[in-house]
Amino acid sequence: MSARETHEPISLTFYNQKRHQSIKNCYKERRIPAAMSCSEQLVWVQGPIIVGAGPSGLAVAACLKEKGIDSLVLERSSCLAPLWQLKMYDRLSLHLPRQFCQLPLFPFPSNYPNYPTKQQFVAYLENYAARFGVHPMYNHEVVCAEYDEQLMLWRVRTQTTGMLEDVEYVSQWLVVATGENAEPVLPMIDGLEEFQGTAIHTSAYKSGSKFTGKAILVVGCGNSGMEVCLDLCNHNAYPHIVVHILPREMLGQPTFQLAMWLLKWLPTHTVDQILLLMARAILGDTARFGLKRPRLGPLELKSLSGKTPILDIGTLAKIKSGDIKVRPAIRKIVGQQVIFMDGRSEQFDTIVLATGYRSNVPCWLKDKGLFSEKDGLPRKAFPNGGKGERGLYSVGFSRRGLMGTAADARRIAHDIDMQWKARERRPA
Ligand SMILES: Cc1cc2nc3c(=O)[nH]c(=O)nc-3n(C[C@H](O)[C@H](O)[C@H](O)COP(=O)(O)OP(=O)(O)OC[C@H]3O[C@@H](n4cnc5c(N)ncnc54)[C@H](O)[C@@H]3O)c2cc1C
Repeated sequence: MSARETHEPISLTFYNQKRHQSIKNCYKERRIPAAMSCSEQLVWVQGPIIVGAGPSGLAVAACLKEKGIDSLVLERSSCLAPLWQLKMYDRLSLHLPRQFCQLPLFPFPSNYPNYPTKQQFVAYLENYAARFGVHPMYNHEVVCAEYDEQLMLWRVRTQTTGMLEDVEYVSQWLVVATGENAEPVLPMIDGLEEFQGTAIHTSAYKSGSKFTGKAILVVGCGNSGMEVCLDLCNHNAYPHIVVHILPREMLGQPTFQLAMWLLKWLPTHTVDQILLLMARAILGDTARFGLKRPRLGPLELKSLSGKTPILDIGTLAKIKSGDIKVRPAIRKIVGQQVIFMDGRSEQFDTIVLATGYRSNVPCWLKDKGLFSEKDGLPRKAFPNGGKGERGLYSVGFSRRGLMGTAADARRIAHDIDMQWKARERRPA
């Protein structure tokens, strides 16, 4: 294989009848049962297969591209970063300051604010993909991926929407970039399914303008729930929240930046105590408004459960003024009535479920080594959860947001590059 051939754009190897044929022959020679190769098309991919065209998938593809390695990015949706383009509410800005959110090799434009808006972040991602020539295969949902011991390759089966045929891809490397937020989590609440108003998850919520004059109950305990409440507060929202709230800025610095700086010298527990003391000084006692703080500090809670502390951008002021009301947990729902744990009962038009997302990896990845079947996250904590056996990688599952993604992407590209070079050195 010549150097030029190995660096040819991956699209040239797709649907290449000769290669297609050689894979088919390979099945014959190694006596792989026909049932295992039953998909419509089988395509060998020279570079890695990346599942997911969110920020993480794009970051790995870009880092590989920089090293001269083309990859195939498979995306179930019809656009890149659909979580940001299709599932986030309009008023969203990045929760963390921009320096913690930019992807490798390509900084944010210098005129972007400290907390870029959703629209700015999407524009940045589109420019990012264009800059590195990353062209995901859209409408390709990966329904099964498993390592074929005989072929010594990953087999990745896709289901395509529209007029396209289903295709199975094979490659030496598989990078899982489907994210910690692949599927909405819907809570088990007695009577929710029979609720006679409208119940939506935040992934379907765009703006409060649709809810003018309606009584809304927001169920959830994260940044999304707080922001949706703020968006709705002129429309009778009744949030139920049990969370850590921190001011977004402390001592004139972004709280997140301050916490990262303190963590260089102090243990997590001590940093948590400092943050809580300062939060109390700035925000006052939030328990007075029904916002009970969890037992663990904000950083400990994040690292143990993945729950992000709330960085307040004005919701607390609305709670203090009574525009947003806090309710205890829900006991059950009857018709349009919500009965709370304290026995109170109120009628709502809409329930917004700000109850977060989960990984979908166990549904399609047959390998059980790298990812836990329980929560679909890597079994080992960052930075050891990024690499599995036999060319399997994970990116964007470190519970460290885009900062973790950037670190993972660089590491994966370096690792694959080493193997790629070793392969090139081998005789044909
Ligand atoms: C409201 C909100 C605000 C946030 N703000 C920040 C922030 O300010 N800073 C920060 O660092 N993080 C933030 N995050 C976390 C954020 O989700 C991630 O940092 C970022 O989107 C992760 O990118 P990703 O590519 O890993 O996952 P995603 O963006 O979820 O991308 C995964 C991709 O995989 C695709 N996919 C899933 N399953 C399949 C399949 N079977 N086949 C093919 N494709 C598939 C999905 O369609 C998706 O395009 C926020 C999250 C939320 C919900």
